[in-house]
Amino acid sequence: MSSVALTDRVAIVTGASSGLGARFATVLADAGAQVVTCARRLERLKELAGKQPAIHPIRCDVAEPDDRAELVATTLGRFGRIDICVNNAGSSSGGADRQATVEGFRDVLRLNLEAVYALSLAVSEPMRAQKSGSVINVSSMFSFIASAPVPDAGYVTTKSGVNGLTRELANQWAADGVRVNAIAPGWFPSEMTSKLFEDESAERWFARMCPMGRPGRIDELDGVLLFLASDASSYCTGQVITIDGGWTIR
Ligand code: NDP
Repeated sequence: MSSVALTDRVAIVTGASSGLGARFATVLADAGAQVVTCARRLERLKELAGKQPAIHPIRCDVAEPDDRAELVATTLGRFGRIDICVNNAGSSSGGADRQATVEGFRDVLRLNLEAVYALSLAVSEPMRAQKSGSVINVSSMFSFIASAPVPDAGYVTTKSGVNGLTRELANQWAADGVRVNAIAPGWFPSEMTSKLFEDESAERWFARMCPMGRPGRIDELDGVLLFLASDASSYCTGQVITIDGGWTIR
């Protein structure tokens, strides 16, 4: 049986200074990988690395080409290979004043979609050369449905784009042993979702909207992450796996 062990694998996790990314980095490191974490808040990355010696922080704004190039070069320089890349860094279009503007749309496009493509392209070179690799894009259930009650055209558009990008790159790189898949989470607690989770009506809303009646717990993405990162998913590529308590099934 294929194992989800990641011994000797080298991973990059973007946006690991909080929320899902911090959890993803820890889960991959606990499974045996060396994990290079990146985000703009280096202190937060260092805090996480203090708890897990297999986590290696690098300050990187993934929307900046030079930062991305340095991230990949530093990882290769230190470990000589890249096996897993979790494109997790992402955000909504910002506050209500940004969500309906073209500038807000453009900013989120640059982070949620352009940076995902650019970093995937960069890591695909060593992955294709070594004839193996797993790129995991973090999409959203809002790639399938509108983001109501919080209108956010930039977020919905970019996450839908991530799904298309996942399929296209999976097809381009399959013959070279590089798999590309995506995780589409429903609501999970993080900095990005903190306002909603703090709202006193949130619990009732989750109970009404979600067949399972609640938001996700942070550990409920561990399984799909390990599946996609490891040889357990060796015949799986181009897929978007939704983890949303059934939110999008009705
Ligand atoms: P958080 O706000 O907690 O985390 C976002 C992370 O992205 C932070 O670590 C932040 O670090 C990083 N980040 C933002 N901009 C940049 C940048 N320019 N360069 C590098 N890193 C950056 O939110 P989540 O954990 O919720 O979000 C993680 C991913 O999960 C996102 O792609 C989001 O769309 C997706 N998602 C989340 C859901 C949820 O319910 N939480 C549901 C569906 C999808 P820093 O500010 O230090 O740079």
